[in-house]
Amino acid sequence: MIVYADNAATTAVSEAALAAMLPCLGEIYGNPSSLHTPGQRAAELLEEARGGFARHLGARPREIYFTSGGSESDNQALRSAAALGARKGKRHIVSTAFEHHAVLHTLEALEKEGFSVTLLDIPPDGVVTAEQVRAALRPETCLVSVMFANNEIGTIQPIADIGAVCREAGVLFHTDAVQAAGHLPIDVEAMHIDLLSLSAHKFHGPKGAGMLYARQGVALQPLIYGGAQERGRRAGTENLAAIRGAAAAFQEACRSMAEEAAALTALRDRLIAGLTAIPHTVLNGDPRRRLPGNVNVCIEGIEGESLLLMLDDAGIAASSGSACTSGSLDPSHVLLALGRPHEVAHGSLRLSLSRYNRPEEVDHILETVPRVVSYLRSISPVWDELERGARPHLI
Ligand SMILES: *Cc1c(COP(=O)(O)O)cnc(C)c1O
Repeated sequence: MIVYADNAATTAVSEAALAAMLPCLGEIYGNPSSLHTPGQRAAELLEEARGGFARHLGARPREIYFTSGGSESDNQALRSAAALGARKGKRHIVSTAFEHHAVLHTLEALEKEGFSVTLLDIPPDGVVTAEQVRAALRPETCLVSVMFANNEIGTIQPIADIGAVCREAGVLFHTDAVQAAGHLPIDVEAMHIDLLSLSAHKFHGPKGAGMLYARQGVALQPLIYGGAQERGRRAGTENLAAIRGAAAAFQEACRSMAEEAAALTALRDRLIAGLTAIPHTVLNGDPRRRLPGNVNVCIEGIEGESLLLMLDDAGIAASSGSACTSGSLDPSHVLLALGRPHEVAHGSLRLSLSRYNRPEEVDHILETVPRVVSYLRSISPVWDELERGARPHLI
């Protein structure tokens, strides 16, 4: 048995999503741009998917653009807002130090192209405030980009408040909602969101399918030039199977959101209580303002990677930092931004649950992690020094 607790990295495709996709890998193969009947049938399905996303986000169908995923949506949102700003001589962008690399690396590229970027510090609870955003705004600010929920520590940002600050200042507001979509209620109107990214594989849809919401009047700049698909903003024949799978998964996730959140929160809180009972272990991020399925702890005196390998042997798939940083020796930029010292950030464990996790799986995790941590500490020279008082405990 595998206990899959790495749903912030990716999720299993749901049965509903798979069922929506299969016909488009079979009998429905028309090109939505073709004028004949098979093409028009495909075009109808494409627009049905667009309408579904719009409905659940409080958007209009013409504000929905399909992309290849969260990374592409983030790149296009940031580049579009930057281009609109540059036209008015505004070349300053506000974002945060704990964004996903799809945002941070795009911002680095924009810096090389002459934009200046302010990255907000992350408070110890992992929740950025609207006041921080307001204080960072300058007359030449063209864009604020703050993620809806963080992918490592799961903390939920005050998006409606930040959106109100941006709207009042006349600055475009983008949110990377990849971790939030399908898990938290989103209303682009009420939250004053101008640009929003989401990705299907984080809510039980297929990989390689994403969506970018752009409020009417916010002109997207294409990253890919070619045909007139997606109203000329994203060329290339649409991946209809993946888009339909994404729409079906999103609808399913939105409909069962409240029920699922309640069940996941109960499992999450059991995990948090059990894991923080391990001596010298702390929770990263606010205990309540976090995604229903996210647990992230730092455990002193162990290496996250050793822990992951031993958990994998015990049939538990978890993560240390993000999937993108594991495999490198650098500690997570998110935990560093949270103020964790390097040696503490190295000993992190992220467990991210989904609707498919069962309470018995949480029992298995709670039996296994403390045992593995004890073993790893017993063979760790660092832990020995900490216990002898040769160096101070940091947690
Ligand atoms: C997964 C993720 C992305 C990237 O999405 P892809 O569809 O994998 O490109 C971007 N932002 C956040 C917050 C994520 O969790």
